[in-house]
Amino acid sequence: MIPISRIESLWVDRRSGESIDLGGDFCLVCGAEPPLYHERMCEQCTRIRATIAKVPQHIQYFQCANCYLYDVGGRWVEMSFEDLQEELLNRNLQVDESASGLVTKISAEVIDDRNTVLHLEFTASIHGLQFEEQHVVTLRRSNGVCLTCTRRAGNYYVATVQLRSSGRRLSEEELNELRASLDDVIAGMTPDPMFFISSESEVQGGYDVILGSKGLARAWSRKLLRKWGGQCKETNSVVGHRDGADITRLTILYRRPGYNIGDVVRWSDILWRVGGWTGDGAVLSRIERIERCGASWRDMEKATVLCPLTEQLEVEMVAQDSSAGEFLNPETWTPITVRLPYDHTGSSTIRVAKVEGEWVALPNLGIDSRDE
Ligand SMILES: [Zn+2]
Ligand SMILES: [Zn+2]
Repeated sequence: MIPISRIESLWVDRRSGESIDLGGDFCLVCGAEPPLYHERMCEQCTRIRATIAKVPQHIQYFQCANCYLYDVGGRWVEMSFEDLQEELLNRNLQVDESASGLVTKISAEVIDDRNTVLHLEFTASIHGLQFEEQHVVTLRRSNGVCLTCTRRAGNYYVATVQLRSSGRRLSEEELNELRASLDDVIAGMTPDPMFFISSESEVQGGYDVILGSKGLARAWSRKLLRKWGGQCKETNSVVGHRDGADITRLTILYRRPGYNIGDVVRWSDILWRVGGWTGDGAVLSRIERIERCGASWRDMEKATVLCPLTEQLEVEMVAQDSSAGEFLNPETWTPITVRLPYDHTGSSTIRVAKVEGEWVALPNLGIDSRDE
């Protein structure tokens, strides 16, 4: 097509440099009378040169043959087939920049398992003229395998988290709560197809979980440390090669301490409650008076749990004075007198623990009023 600017100059050239008097406006292409629209062309010439959208005959797309995710611009995503159609059209149609008020109607005709024909109807306004167009495009599905399924199929995994305890067996209940915290971690993170559990099993002395993502494994280990204290040890090893790159496996060994926040322990011949965790050990809160101290994990190996949080009781007192309180032993219903805890504020209930046959009233810890 000859650009409009050239046409104007042709008119001039042919008349040996003299521009003629054209006597008012006319279509620069065919000479027709006004009204003129785009670049001084009549309606017919404008229409011939404009289309709302250029549509390819075929659009190919990939779908994971295993989990049915679609590949959209290099990412595997879950979406409905209707949404995919729109997405593919957005990516493959060239819509005229001067089109405004575009309305698209799509009707899909499924030809077979692989082919779907889309009938498209466009209406839009271009250069002040209303356009209507119909197009047909065939969507062609190809089978693919998404990244997640590739890795699963190859039994490919990247991180193992080993749940253990120091110097004892983890109880069924402890294992359950540790394992359940992984689901909380996954639920709290932005979804990622690599956040899958490849396998998990009970093993001698603990539990192993194999995950598809190192990031997930680390996030979980941070949660374990925050909630139950203890230590994590990370090991990286090369387990193979693929496409010229090392495949590394991360192993995180988590050791849960033999005690929990709130437990009554004896350490250095003194009774304490475990008050919380630092990175290097536990924070201890003395039972008989206000005193807090930090004990390293190594120090704490010498601590003995005398009454875990789960065996402590909240009891209603039947009598109290400024220093002592009396409650009924829930086992025998005989009255027991205990020294009130140093932080007692006069409430009618106290928390008590049976420590080597003796009842002891406990000062309050944050954990006592928490549901967690
Ligand atoms: Zn014309
Ligand atoms: Zn898949």
